[in-house]
Amino acid sequence: MPELPDKRTAFMDWYLAVVDGAGVTDKRYPVKGMNVWTPYGFRARRNLDAVLVREIEATGSEAVEFPTLIPATEFEKEKEHIKGFDAQVYWVTRGGLSELDIPLVLRPTSETAIYPIFSVWIRSHRDLPLNVYQIVNTFRYETKTTRPFLRVREIHFFEEHTCQANEAHATERVRSNLGAFRKMADAFALPFLPVRRPEWDKFPGAYYTIALDAPIGEARTLQLGSIHHYRENFARPYGIRYEAADGSQQYVHQTTFGLSERLLGAILAVHGDAKGAVFPTAIAPYQVVVIPIPGPDAGDGPLRTAEEIAGRLARHGLRVHLDAGDERPGAKYYRWEQAGVPLRLEVGRREAESRTATSASRLGAKGRVTIDRLEHEVAERLAEFDRALAERAAAGFAAAFSLAGSIAELAGSTTVRVVAWCGSEACGHQIEAGIDGALLGVPEGPLPIEVGSPGACVACGSTTAVRWALAGRPL
Ligand SMILES: [Zn+2]
Repeated sequence: MPELPDKRTAFMDWYLAVVDGAGVTDKRYPVKGMNVWTPYGFRARRNLDAVLVREIEATGSEAVEFPTLIPATEFEKEKEHIKGFDAQVYWVTRGGLSELDIPLVLRPTSETAIYPIFSVWIRSHRDLPLNVYQIVNTFRYETKTTRPFLRVREIHFFEEHTCQANEAHATERVRSNLGAFRKMADAFALPFLPVRRPEWDKFPGAYYTIALDAPIGEARTLQLGSIHHYRENFARPYGIRYEAADGSQQYVHQTTFGLSERLLGAILAVHGDAKGAVFPTAIAPYQVVVIPIPGPDAGDGPLRTAEEIAGRLARHGLRVHLDAGDERPGAKYYRWEQAGVPLRLEVGRREAESRTATSASRLGAKGRVTIDRLEHEVAERLAEFDRALAERAAAGFAAAFSLAGSIAELAGSTTVRVVAWCGSEACGHQIEAGIDGALLGVPEGPLPIEVGSPGACVACGSTTAVRWALAGRPL
């Protein structure tokens, strides 16, 4: 069996090989950066979306869907936002044979599609808070090299947009989003760090941006998503106002929370290993694959038993696949390992006769399950698998950060660096030059490693307003 490139030293080659081997996407569509979701990949996506929907709806958000096309006149209302997205939008300028009077933008994100309608939905303080989300495709004309799930031009996108009565309520919504994301990330066994981006790297039009970053080795980080506080920055140009209890007219304060298919890329990147993809059970397209092993004198016992196992597990609510094709068992094991299936059950003659199955977890744990107690024992194995996966990811996360006491120490970093920073942009850029990457920002909440309190800024030596910040190389 061909070996994968080394994850640590040749990450992107490894990642591309893992994505290919898992069979989750087809890159042969004739528009660069617009990929096809295969049946197996679509299963993963649907399971992932179900977790997002469950957690965001638990915080009182409702699903909506807005149109894909945005009139140029609406798109151009918030100046910072336009500046940030102008170079990335696709335009629709013709309808049939006629030039359009007002050109249309294919949404790169939906603020400018949604907010004109918010301004007519919201009249009174009784209309607040307004918390809605949509899961739609967005479009960005990427000029950098595209990568499946990580950087694409048609993006499967989750976006929550909210309107709150005031700044404090909007800050509270940001907290609530962060809590919801923690639960999502727990389901995916995906360690991350919320980081407040520096001013020069925040979302165009935002008051501030909290990014959700995951380290993926060799000082690289992946932004899994982001949460933004807009204050009144969009409410003013779009006229989103309400009548307060005292009769005065007030602008709403807004927030957004965005996630994308990049989350699936991160799950593949963080959990994958030398054998290929590894899916946490929450999103695994198949949680269990059952493989009968025919033999010269095995009769139909293995197949019958495998069918019984698959049927019972499916009725028990598990996503299970019976692989009864005529490939050799070894080839099947290899394929389902590459595809990241958490648990494999094998049934040969001996297992069929003794009413058992041999179990092999994707992380290497071997054992035997008794068919009499099948549902119970398989649930136990899957829970063990998820625990082991979370432990492996947590160990990788803890090892992904280290302290840097000076700019010089940043050169050639193989971990994300924790540095003392005075908050000035000039010093931020010096740190970025030092690591040949980005100042990711200041973590919200505890640091990933114990470092005490910060002394002097690594760039200017100032001891005023110094805080711990993170520097790395975002992918
Ligand atoms: Zn400084």
